[in-house]
Amino acid sequence: MKRIAIIGAGLAGLTCGKALQQAGHDVVIFEKSRGIGGRLATRRAEPFYFDHGVAAFTASNDDFQSFVNQLLAEGVIAVWAVHQATPDNSFVSTVSTKPNSVPRVSDNYVGIPAMNAIGKHLASGLTVQRNTRVASIIDHHPIFNSWELLSDKGETLGQFDWIISAMPVEQAKSFAQTSLHTKVLNKYALMPCSVLMLGFDTPLALDYEYAKIEGEDIDKIIVNSAKPHREGGYSLVIHSTPAWTNRHIEEDKTACINHLTQAASQVLGIDLSTAAHKDIHHWRYAIGEAANPQSGDHQLGYLLDNDQNIGVCGDWLLKGDVESAYLSGKKLAKAMIELLKSE
Ligand SMILES: Cc1cc2nc3c(=O)[nH]c(=O)nc-3n(C[C@H](O)[C@H](O)[C@H](O)COP(=O)(O)OP(=O)(O)OC[C@H]3O[C@@H](n4cnc5c(N)ncnc54)[C@H](O)[C@@H]3O)c2cc1C
Repeated sequence: MKRIAIIGAGLAGLTCGKALQQAGHDVVIFEKSRGIGGRLATRRAEPFYFDHGVAAFTASNDDFQSFVNQLLAEGVIAVWAVHQATPDNSFVSTVSTKPNSVPRVSDNYVGIPAMNAIGKHLASGLTVQRNTRVASIIDHHPIFNSWELLSDKGETLGQFDWIISAMPVEQAKSFAQTSLHTKVLNKYALMPCSVLMLGFDTPLALDYEYAKIEGEDIDKIIVNSAKPHREGGYSLVIHSTPAWTNRHIEEDKTACINHLTQAASQVLGIDLSTAAHKDIHHWRYAIGEAANPQSGDHQLGYLLDNDQNIGVCGDWLLKGDVESAYLSGKKLAKAMIELLKSE
């Protein structure tokens, strides 16, 4: 049995931790945030709820589809048979009163009653130390290859045989132990996204729940409150393009909210500035570049250094989406279980 520390309680870290624990290892997960699930995130601003990370996800891989089926059976997620508007803005002319006039897309999955239900569910039975930002790892016993973790408050978080990084790539880079690690990590990147959250006292007259936009500062409009099993008021979640976030992430929050609200109002032909609740969250590392056509050389899905006893997983090691996070965590755990059996 090895004592293993995992940094990050997103889908990759939780999946990896669960498999390693099931194989008999002693696993502790450290998470800097109060919530669990990373980018599978939900924010509450009574009476509104916003899935302000990923809005919905799909499955293409058989392993991931089996996991999805299990979550469906356990009532952790549901299919969101969404009315999706077309990407060429043609829906603008269809914004009207005709219900169900836009075709439904049925393979979108969402956590219920909110996206953060997935992380909460996976964390059950695991030791997850929340509100704990790992600041450094110290090689305190080179012969036995054991590591000590320190928090950002300078406290020791214990000694471990193995360390697993399950963070977005930019954060993983700060823990790279050798120039070789840094060189490998430099090949990867995640794109940013700003998420505008709008809550309304009365529902808007839209005949779709999800629209992909092109040629604007906004990329997607999602009627969050239309997802299955949602409670609370009518809520919209609006994603910016990565290019917009890159240009504006350091700017005044109110200016960012106002700009994206105005941009979405123009696209919809509806004045959204009357929203009862407005907020924005900037994600510096949101989604993989490989989700776009210029996908890179992503094959293995994890990094494993068995001289230093370090493993690395995360969505960015594959296509940078929910499915990738699951597969990366699972693949790393499988490789480590095989390796540790032979020790
Ligand atoms: C706005 C947005 C839109 C998206 N759209 C889609 C989509 O349409 N389809 C899709 O499939 N995917 C989408 N994604 C991406 C998807 O959410 C991610 O691919 C997936 O959730 C990543 O999981 P992960 O475990 O690899 O990383 P994360 O969920 O980022 O987990 C990493 C965890 O590490 C923690 N951490 C970081 N540093 C430290 C530290 N020093 N100490 C302790 N903890 C630390 C973080 O707090 C976080 O909880 C989107 C994401 C966002 C934000």
